[in-house]
Amino acid sequence: MKSLVKNILVFLFIFLVIASLFSVFSEGVSKPEVIGVNNFISLVKDEQIKEVSINGNNLNVVLNSGDKKLVKKEEGESFSDLLNNFSVPSEKISKIEIKVEEESQLNVFLLSVLPFLIPFLLVAVFIYFMMKGVSGANSKAMMFGQSQAREFDNKQKNKVSFKDVAGAKEAKQELSEVVEFLKFPKKFHDLGAKIPKGVLLLGGPGTGKTLMAKAVAGEANVPFYNISGSEFVEMFVGVGASRVRSLFQKAKKNSPCIVFIDEIDAVGRRRGAGLGGSHDEREQTLNQILVEMDGFDPTVNIIVIAATNRPDVLDPALLRPGRFDRQVVVDLPDLKDRQEILDVHARKKPLSKNVDLKLIAERTPGFSGADLANVLNEGAILAARANKKSIDVEDLFEAIEKVMMGPERKSRVISEQEKKITAYHEAGHALVAHFSPNTDPVHKISIIARGQAGGYTLKLPSSDKRMYSKDYFLDEIAVLLAGHLTEKKIFGEVTTGATSDLRRATNIAKKLITDYGMSDKLGPRTFGEKEEMIFLGKEIHEQRDYSEKVAEQIDEEVFSFIDISKKRAEKILEEKNNYLEKIVEVLMEKETIEKDEFDKIVSV
Ligand code: ADP
Ligand code: ZN
Repeated sequence: MKSLVKNILVFLFIFLVIASLFSVFSEGVSKPEVIGVNNFISLVKDEQIKEVSINGNNLNVVLNSGDKKLVKKEEGESFSDLLNNFSVPSEKISKIEIKVEEESQLNVFLLSVLPFLIPFLLVAVFIYFMMKGVSGANSKAMMFGQSQAREFDNKQKNKVSFKDVAGAKEAKQELSEVVEFLKFPKKFHDLGAKIPKGVLLLGGPGTGKTLMAKAVAGEANVPFYNISGSEFVEMFVGVGASRVRSLFQKAKKNSPCIVFIDEIDAVGRRRGAGLGGSHDEREQTLNQILVEMDGFDPTVNIIVIAATNRPDVLDPALLRPGRFDRQVVVDLPDLKDRQEILDVHARKKPLSKNVDLKLIAERTPGFSGADLANVLNEGAILAARANKKSIDVEDLFEAIEKVMMGPERKSRVISEQEKKITAYHEAGHALVAHFSPNTDPVHKISIIARGQAGGYTLKLPSSDKRMYSKDYFLDEIAVLLAGHLTEKKIFGEVTTGATSDLRRATNIAKKLITDYGMSDKLGPRTFGEKEEMIFLGKEIHEQRDYSEKVAEQIDEEVFSFIDISKKRAEKILEEKNNYLEKIVEVLMEKETIEKDEFDKIVSV
């Protein structure tokens, strides 16, 4: 569509150029003044005419003075007839030099052919451009078939090795086996062992799956081909499959090597689950991957590493023996791993002496490797902007919050009233969080807007948690409700600021019942099938696998859980009311309260 518009514009442009050329052209041959026949005859009679050249119906007249005039005579009437008709004496005629010119070929051409030709030319030009646009798209379609795999050159200096991957001990251990397959295939062949062809890396975004695959290639010193599953999904059916084919062709030429397919879930979703949409293309691509993997000769040493964070949606055919039968989980890093990752990324960054990366690791539960790398980078940027020579711990703390919640929006102007409401709201969260037995300690309260949030209360677990109790969730809901409750208590009404708190609280309450089996009434089962369906390109997540009556019970349970939490929050807000005013006072003055100061306020 865009190219059509562009073509039309080009067409118009050419038209204008031609038109303007014509006008310049025709004016350029400075036209002599046209005079009437009567005028001409009287000039003849006055003997003022030196020369007349007859060119068809045009008489180009040169006067004795040298002036040129143009006279148009009637069609079919000859020059001598004309003079006779006006009974010009013959002696006057003999004084004039008369030339008869052939009508110029160019003129004939310009005047008679061009008017017909121009539209043709324009149409031809137009069609040419259209065709060019189309064939451009076509030739791109031809190129689709080529693999767009990027080769990552391991021979260069920036070769990645296991040393660059911090933490993830188990994953590295399992993958070091793959390194051995690539390095010493003979050892395995001699014993009749089949070398596995596919390894599936499972883990959330940013946990270092790509890095890990690169490190395997680096350790084994083999080429690394990298393509993302989403690149296979193209408009044209068959393109993805042919890309797979050419990718593997390239890989076979350069074996031993690693082929890394990122986001394999983009093509490897369970087949047949989609209704409409482009699932045909995905299916063909997936089939081609399977064909290639089944097809290589055991002596061709290619190991396909694929990454996904959605193993649940993968087609079972992918996981069969001989395909991606090895699965390696790449988890979010725990405290120790986080510190190691920070160490790796701090290598080239000058940190101030007071920086203890353990402290940063403690403050970043739930961060992925990519987030941690980002924290150090943001910290370095903050330090550079303050013209420091090294990165301080404050820069890193600031960077953590920035990565977590987006940049501070200090410039956002808020009225004194809004600031007060935010202060009470956050103080409410903090107070309930501090006095609930099962929640994480409060690290910071702020009423400076950050990202989407108007203010925030930062709680951080004292250790990494993997399992949570029902009471933990109920307290969590109480903390979320506390902002809303405090606003209501102090101002008698609530603002829109609490919306996302309430949504989150409701979601937690629902999950307690439908996912965790923590409702005594409904018992230990899950509700709702998380089966993925793709309908017209849109994912429909939940399938109800329970009756209307149970749905009602779930609703009731959600209400009752929220009610329990609400009572807990109200009780704390009531009993500890004396601290609330103090917290708000400090917030109004300083806008942020750090952990130490907060602990002091609530311990008197
Ligand atoms: P994924 O492929 O899992 O989404 P990446 O491998 O692209 O994640 O990781 C993104 C970046 O995060 C890496 O380039 C690296 O800088 C950093 N990173 C992630 N995990 C680690 C780790 N374990 N050790 C060091 N850096 C890591
Ligand atoms: Zn809130």
